[in-house]
Amino acid sequence: MCGCVVGKESRGRLNTVIFERNSKTGRKLLATGNGRCNLGNTASSEESYFLSGSSLSSELKERLSFEYTKELFGSLGLMIKTDSAGRAYPQSGNASSVLDILRNNIRKYGIDERTDEKVNSIKKSGGKFIIVTQSGEYTAHCVIIACGGAASPVFGSDGSGFELAKALGHTVTKPFPSLTPLSVNDDLRPIKGVRCDCEIKLQSGGETVASERGELQINENSISGICVFNISHYVNLAFSKGEKPPEIAIDLLPDVNINKLKSFIMKAVFASGDIPLDEVMTGIMNKKLAGFIIKRAASLSPAVRCSDVSKREIIAICNEIKSFKLTSKRSFDFTKAQVSGGGVRLDEVDLKNMSSKKAQGLYFAGEVLDVDAPCGGFNLQWAWTTAEISARSAVLRCLNDKNK
Ligand SMILES: Cc1cc2nc3c(=O)[nH]c(=O)nc-3n(C[C@H](O)[C@H](O)[C@H](O)COP(=O)(O)OP(=O)(O)OC[C@H]3O[C@@H](n4cnc5c(N)ncnc54)[C@H](O)[C@@H]3O)c2cc1C
Repeated sequence: MCGCVVGKESRGRLNTVIFERNSKTGRKLLATGNGRCNLGNTASSEESYFLSGSSLSSELKERLSFEYTKELFGSLGLMIKTDSAGRAYPQSGNASSVLDILRNNIRKYGIDERTDEKVNSIKKSGGKFIIVTQSGEYTAHCVIIACGGAASPVFGSDGSGFELAKALGHTVTKPFPSLTPLSVNDDLRPIKGVRCDCEIKLQSGGETVASERGELQINENSISGICVFNISHYVNLAFSKGEKPPEIAIDLLPDVNINKLKSFIMKAVFASGDIPLDEVMTGIMNKKLAGFIIKRAASLSPAVRCSDVSKREIIAICNEIKSFKLTSKRSFDFTKAQVSGGGVRLDEVDLKNMSSKKAQGLYFAGEVLDVDAPCGGFNLQWAWTTAEISARSAVLRCLNDKNK
């Protein structure tokens, strides 16, 4: 996107080079949104992002709106559709359309794309940047660092952007993995593979820090699903700071209130005599999950006869269903993360034009900055928006300085 905007704005008046360490640019894009590229969200606003206490400029707020992103892509020739949850995708439903459109525009504007060329260092000397790559040395009037974070290094983002920024005088808030599954201390082997609708909450000191509704996927010793990804920021941030992570409490029947649940189960159990308890519970939830809850909450065999179950045990089971508690074990590493939390501190960047406050002519775009967001297209929307603003500003600066 930086390349497209520079090309469009400069119309051949500047020499522009994209350095990409992979053999092709934009590889990660093809993996986004399960190959469909969820490139934005109609609900995008300042509140959609984890901004570590910073607030956005009015320019950035305005351009983070979905309408702006849609227009930006429209100007490049990409048609966009949205689903009922406000998630935006290319009309074709294929991530490759997004990448092709970006590549076509780069080619159209004659931007030099140097692939298999990793940037190893950038220094400022005599008002110019000296860029040292794995195969050469270049000078530049302006530089945009858009190297992503450290998440999913298999796609090229290995955290080297943070090092480039640090060497140019920037402070980088310790990066941590976000949008990850959560590893737990609890042995979940008996319910491995179970999926169910839930409301997952993070609690700390009796307060709810975050909550999400969605499909929970249970693995041997971890939990996953979009709702888990969306709260992982808080847990992984606590681990990265060496703090105690918030407790996980899961409501396994979020549409049923506790009193209704108690009276429904009691009525069913007291009317069922010799029938095994887990069979009766199948009427309200997955049988494997029910058996696990029965054992955990009331220390009973799942096949216990209903006539042998007490009122106190039923209440314990209901409480467990409404607040199934798990404790986080550790943070997954960056290989399992879709995005990085942390990054280049926002207070060292002029958010009106994405320029560095530390080195004139330096700009930032995308995930290398200390911003991350939940699933839903917000992270890419941040990347496009900051790319567009930084590219436009860099062109303006280069052209102004050229005319002096
Ligand atoms: C599997 C997966 C699915 C995702 N799905 C979605 C989704 O549907 N919607 C959404 O909004 N977000 C999604 N994300 C997150 C989103 O892809 C990122 O937030 C976004 O790509 C960040 O864009 P970026 O340009 O800042 O960095 P990146 O996309 O990471 O691009 C950085 C580029 O810089 C290159 N590079 C890095 N260092 C150097 C160097 N030193 N020299 C030269 N080149 C370098 C890398 O090879 C890479 O090509 C997903 C992420 C993953 C991993």
